[in-house]
Amino acid sequence: MNVGVLGGGQLGRMLALAGVPLGLRFRFLEPQQPSPVDGVGEVVRAEYDDVEAVRRFAKGLDVVTYEFENVPDSTARLLEELLRVHPSAAALRTAQDRLAEKQTFQSLGIPTPTFHPVDSRDGLMEAIGSVGLPAVLKTRRFGYDGKGQAVIDGPNAVEGAWKALGGTPLLLERFVPFSRELSILGARGRDGAIVFYPLVENEHRNGILHRTHAPAPLVSRALQDRAEGYLRSLMEKMNYVGVLALELFQHGDELLANEMAPRVHNSGHWTQDGALTSQFENHLRAVCGFALGACEPRGYAGMLNLVGRVPPAERVLAIPGARLHLYGKEARAGRKLGHVNAVGADPSSVRATLDRVEALLQP
Ligand code: AMP
Repeated sequence: MNVGVLGGGQLGRMLALAGVPLGLRFRFLEPQQPSPVDGVGEVVRAEYDDVEAVRRFAKGLDVVTYEFENVPDSTARLLEELLRVHPSAAALRTAQDRLAEKQTFQSLGIPTPTFHPVDSRDGLMEAIGSVGLPAVLKTRRFGYDGKGQAVIDGPNAVEGAWKALGGTPLLLERFVPFSRELSILGARGRDGAIVFYPLVENEHRNGILHRTHAPAPLVSRALQDRAEGYLRSLMEKMNYVGVLALELFQHGDELLANEMAPRVHNSGHWTQDGALTSQFENHLRAVCGFALGACEPRGYAGMLNLVGRVPPAERVLAIPGARLHLYGKEARAGRKLGHVNAVGADPSSVRATLDRVEALLQP
């Protein structure tokens, strides 16, 4: 089968690395050169809105999927006229807009932080009246890794936040003093079958995922069931096919939905080494119409992101149990360059392995 992927970043690379053993061939649409998918498939080097290139990209493919969600809606719709696209352009559209996303959560009874759309300076004051402070002002589109956000912790911070973000459609959300950040990933097949990975706990640094602990500690069956119920209702409502990630804040006994990602997700990278079937393989199984694979963890797992710097590979590989995944990207501050997974019989041994890798990053 020939699989087309919109985007050629590390997620595309890891999809290909999981799909080649299944007999799949890959073609990417990616504007940048060099890119992490160089060498793992064919690359059509063009902008996402280049209609002629999109048609060339689509020729001979059996299915198209995404590794990047900020693809223009017009491109996703054009592709849908030509061939099978999973997840659908409609699901992509919902996930691209924080307001549409939060309204979808709300319509399904999935709790979220209190929110209010903001389209003007006066609108911001009205939103603050409705949501209260502290709050987080976010761009509705194109935000990632904490970019396009400003915390308004009191009345004095309003002007600065507006100066930083005003002029594009925004959303104001109540700031949630959460106890921890969790995420759940699942896959839904073309036949409607659904599988779920266990809830994982995510630690962030400077707005970027730093470590994932899988499964998340202290998760009751009831909490896992609740998260699965939320994800299931989203996947069923959107008639979703592929892997869907849902980011959650745990606040007391509550689980509040922050955002969803209509693709494989950084908090699922541990599954490459720590689950019976990786998120990458399950995404491909779903979009290609194959049976989904089991999601059970192989003991405990953890993932450490390598952001901005990569330790020498030979030093990582000398640490027993450290599984290195590099993306072939040039080092730049704040850039995700790779990650290390660790798997063990208990959470403390996993942590110890990742601590040893992290120590290599200290100057
Ligand atoms: P996002 O881009 O929406 O995933 O936000 C990036 C990070 O900002 C999250 O992982 C949280 O750590 C933090 N954050 C976002 N929204 C809120 C909120 N409403 N309350 C508290 N922290 C938030």
